Amino acid sequence: MASMPSLFVSHGSPMTAIQPSAARDFFLSVAKDLPRPQAILIATAHFEGRLPLVTLDETPAMIYDFANFPQALFEIVYPALGSPALAHRAASLLTRAGHDVFGVTDRGFDHGTWAPLCLMYPQADILVVQISVQPELGAAHHLELGRALAPLREEGVLVIGSGSLTHNLYELSRSGRQFDAPVRDWVVDFTEWVAGKVEAGAQDDIAHYRDRAPFARENHPRDEHFLPLPFAMGAGGGAPGKRIHASYEYGLLAMDAFLFQ
Ligand code: ZN
Repeated sequence: MASMPSLFVSHGSPMTAIQPSAARDFFLSVAKDLPRPQAILIATAHFEGRLPLVTLDETPAMIYDFANFPQALFEIVYPALGSPALAHRAASLLTRAGHDVFGVTDRGFDHGTWAPLCLMYPQADILVVQISVQPELGAAHHLELGRALAPLREEGVLVIGSGSLTHNLYELSRSGRQFDAPVRDWVVDFTEWVAGKVEAGAQDDIAHYRDRAPFARENHPRDEHFLPLPFAMGAGGGAPGKRIHASYEYGLLAMDAFLFQ
């Protein structure tokens, strides 16, 4: 069985699923360059918990966790099956590493999960388990969670962190939402700092990004959309990340993706 990489993606607006963009083109093509996974474990920024929560549903429902978007988005169904076996395996790895973890049911796919996956694996024929982020516990904790789950990569599991490299929705709502707006300097400065650290494998800097990165708080007023990055980096086992996509949307959202293997 091929060893799987781990992956961080910026899922962006739900519109990524239906609106042409460079990021959408990336999602449509990236799976062709990866070994085919047996299953996917995805940490999504839209699933928060005080502890790691893993989804046990065999037939996950859909969650449309947004408003004021086109009706077409509310009609997307991603019918992938869940995997209680993978959820239990992930929970056992986390428990062994000293983390409390809960399995949950009746927790469908949010758009941090289905927007990327409906483009990457449109056949929906790969099992998917979601794991929550814990915004109160910070980046270092998410590096540890990823490290604990790294053995899954040898078991055919694609570990994904789905967040956003930058994510200031307050500025986005003030900006008028022009898709090709000029990119703000404070967004570029942060994005390039993070990309440099990821490509250097500088886990300590990523763990302390809120203190060390330029404009960290401006780009992440809360850090739930950043945390999938240290999660994926940890699952990559310390390997430097390879930047496999970079684009900006609305002048504010960095859509970078990184591969760890
Ligand atoms: Zn999001």
